Amino acid sequence: KQILVCGGTGCTSSGSKKIIDKFHEELKARGMDEKINIVMTGCHGLCALGPIVIVYPDACFYSRISADDIPEIVEEHLVKGNIVKKFLYEETIVGDDIRSLHETDFYKHQHRVALRNCGVINPEIIEEYIARDGYQALHKVLTELKPEDVIQILLDSGLRGRGGAGFPTGMKWKFAMGNKADQKYVCCNADEGDPGAFMDRSVLEGDPHVVLEAMTIAGYTIGANQGYIYVRAEYPIAIERLNIAIKQAREAGMLGKDIFGTGFDFDIDLRLGAGAFVCGEETALMTSIEGNRGEPHPRPPFPAVKGLFQKPTILNNVETWANIPRIILQGAEWFASMGTEKSKGTKVFALGGKINNVGLVEIPMGTTLRTIIEEIGGGIPGGKKFKAAQTGGPSGGCIPASLIDTPIDYNNLLEIGSMMGSGGLIVMDETDCMVDIAKFFLEFTVDESCGKCAPCRIGTKRLLELLNLITSGKATMDDLDRLEKLTKTISQNSLCALGQTASNPVISTLRYFKDEYIAHIVDKK
Ligand code: SF4
Repeated sequence: KQILVCGGTGCTSSGSKKIIDKFHEELKARGMDEKINIVMTGCHGLCALGPIVIVYPDACFYSRISADDIPEIVEEHLVKGNIVKKFLYEETIVGDDIRSLHETDFYKHQHRVALRNCGVINPEIIEEYIARDGYQALHKVLTELKPEDVIQILLDSGLRGRGGAGFPTGMKWKFAMGNKADQKYVCCNADEGDPGAFMDRSVLEGDPHVVLEAMTIAGYTIGANQGYIYVRAEYPIAIERLNIAIKQAREAGMLGKDIFGTGFDFDIDLRLGAGAFVCGEETALMTSIEGNRGEPHPRPPFPAVKGLFQKPTILNNVETWANIPRIILQGAEWFASMGTEKSKGTKVFALGGKINNVGLVEIPMGTTLRTIIEEIGGGIPGGKKFKAAQTGGPSGGCIPASLIDTPIDYNNLLEIGSMMGSGGLIVMDETDCMVDIAKFFLEFTVDESCGKCAPCRIGTKRLLELLNLITSGKATMDDLDRLEKLTKTISQNSLCALGQTASNPVISTLRYFKDEYIAHIVDKK
């Protein structure tokens, strides 16, 4: 038998470490500790049901467990062989039978590529990663492929950056490979800052080696020997597991000097971000790694030409990295067979807000919002009506209920005035005021504007003042006109993506819910 206990941030904060200790104590007391393996894993996705315990080989999914429940689970299930039904996730109970978690509505529409090891392996044990084909892609690249071959595989796969902009990853690497320099760098953007987003954190906590392996592949491909992972200091579990993974990979000869005895050297260090949202912007992130204040600067030059320390650099986000070893091993065709014509593969979303199954999901591109909300997400609590979903966080926009059948991909989201962003998906119900939602995101942006350029620094403040005027019932229709004009000024004149996209929540709520703005206005003439 094997017991998996979720050790992601959500379950850890609700007591999973105590659960592991209690399992050890109870099993030891019964002389069973050598026969049953307790594995601390990363996130399973159903974060609202934590702490989560899965007992194999029965695949019983116990949810909302506390340390006090462990003696009963051990005695009944592990000693007497009786499944403790009262602790089971109810979706896994079908009459008198128990079905696997993978047959539930939450999982059956998902396809896990970036998250394939999360909730499966112990992220602190390199052998568990290796047992799931870990570091095989790196070995293949170093021993069988030329850098040009790797680029071609990525181009053929159609992989686009999962950090928000959706730029073709193979193209980015090709530019960096083609630029001659005595030194190049590979960076990982793990500065996930959108409200409600925790996709990257979950990958780092549940499968840190996949990022190290992918970055090392990139190092070989572009001719770099140093990588940096820029990770939020507010992610202590991710940082701890990354440090463990780096140490283990170095000791195993898969990172550092002479990797796999091929003569190729590549190492990775962490840099901790202090919590500024703008440091997720690539030029600000690299400036911060250099030890300077994390402020954006104009592009071009792009990082593939002059990036970190003025050297050619590639920067990808955590989810993008997590796809790469699978693409190398399973092939470009396999990856390109998933998704839509212009958006290949899968996308991870952090599903939150007014939704029953709050958690982490990975779906093939092209899945409709309806499937995500009604089936995977289990619908809206209290039987309320779905009103809208915000994708892309403070840079994104809302998707109204009338567009719930839109297949989710980069292009479709842009067409309807939203964006993929890094993967936050916040659901609103019929009781939510959309002007308040726009205000919430704008308050965030005003706080996070770095202040370097006036359109963003001053413009977002004025925009927020207008929104406050509207929600306080003191605005006129002229103020609404001013609001619309100001969104354009800010978008067109700000220096970086933070300012350029800051107005998006206002623009998209105005596009679909202008009546709600007008309802707040006293003088409607
Ligand atoms: Fe800073 Fe905003 Fe200007 Fe970006 S747009 S540089 S965040 S002030």
